[in-house]
Amino acid sequence: MKVDLIIQARWIIPVEANSVTHENHALVINDGKIIDLLPWLQAGHKYQANTVEKLHDHALLPGLINSHTHASMNLMRGIADDLPLMDWLQNHIWPLEQKWMSEAFVRDGTELAIAEMIRGGTTCFNDMYFFPDIIAQQAIHHGIRASVGLILIDFPTVWAENSESYIEKGLAVHDQLRHEPLISTPFAPHAPYTVSDQPLIKARTFADELELQLHMHVHETAHEVEEQLQKTQQTPIQRLDQLGLLNPSFMAVHMTQLTKQDIKLFAGTGAHIIHCPESNLKLASGFCPLAQCIDAGINVALGTDGAASNNDLDMFGEMRTAALLAKAVAGDASAVPANTILEMATINGAKALGIEHKTGSLTAGKAADVIAIDLSAIETQPLYEPISQIVYAANRQQVTDVWVAGKQLLKQGELTTINLAELSEKITSWQTKLRS
Ligand SMILES: [Zn+2]
Repeated sequence: MKVDLIIQARWIIPVEANSVTHENHALVINDGKIIDLLPWLQAGHKYQANTVEKLHDHALLPGLINSHTHASMNLMRGIADDLPLMDWLQNHIWPLEQKWMSEAFVRDGTELAIAEMIRGGTTCFNDMYFFPDIIAQQAIHHGIRASVGLILIDFPTVWAENSESYIEKGLAVHDQLRHEPLISTPFAPHAPYTVSDQPLIKARTFADELELQLHMHVHETAHEVEEQLQKTQQTPIQRLDQLGLLNPSFMAVHMTQLTKQDIKLFAGTGAHIIHCPESNLKLASGFCPLAQCIDAGINVALGTDGAASNNDLDMFGEMRTAALLAKAVAGDASAVPANTILEMATINGAKALGIEHKTGSLTAGKAADVIAIDLSAIETQPLYEPISQIVYAANRQQVTDVWVAGKQLLKQGELTTINLAELSEKITSWQTKLRS
């Protein structure tokens, strides 16, 4: 049988099917999809490929899924560090956004983030920001998969003036993108403290009707929880549950400050948690009790949050931080092992985003969203256990090749859809403006 591509690799970690690692296997790709996974020799007999990639020092993995970010905020990386969350938001980030937010800001910031993500092995990102149409345009143009949140917030911005127009514009963006194979469009109400009941109920109704996910920051800080308790004698989770938001299409980002009751209530709804450990650490927001949430049966995915509070979109760094932090918080070194962390960065993200039928594992029938990591470097030698090595010792500079839906976006370390010199020029000009 004739096929487009065979990738031979030293190790293939499909992620689904219980953290198996196949040695000296080949991944067979045709028409943008994975069609087979079998030993090198058998692949050679069974298929004739237009291209054969020989990656004999490498591990192949499903592309990493960054389940929560604000791509455009890459333009504000490092502009206001070492500040408490509310000071950081109210006195730095929001005024800068108010002054500079525009289509051009989102276009260039998103391109910068996409370049960083592809180079670091991320093949899909779940975004929440203004001008979702522009974010989607950039993702499609550069070939990366994206879940582009239809932002909803009570106060006016350059994107929309009130909650009605946020929803109206969001629905128009959804309509325009609904046939794009790389794009999905969840509703993205910003947070319990910035969106009131009526728009939340509306977003839920439309999400149900159109079968869209919902993506929201929830229980980010103790302050948020206390404020809600004072107002309504409910935690934000209880309020969202009462409004009918919590169900298997809901993604709650952050989820620090959880009581046992919160965890039990949340687990019963089938909703997902997006864990962003580095952002929580940097803003001193608190800790998500990861081991307890997983034990309760909650699907937990992993995200970096925006570059202004991290300060990178590095899913390798995020995996390591999540693993280490989970052990410290649980007081148990055996809590949340490396293979669980890798699932959080891949298949669990696909489940949270509602796209596990398309991506998240190297499974026949799914899109060929694949990354290769060169493990021959001295920093990852000796190598006893590839998954453990990838989570605890490898870094994103070891990612050499990246495919999304069978299209190669990174080839031996070089981006194929982004001109770095031109991108750098645009970023320098934004730096000058934002600092002025
Ligand atoms: Zn966020």
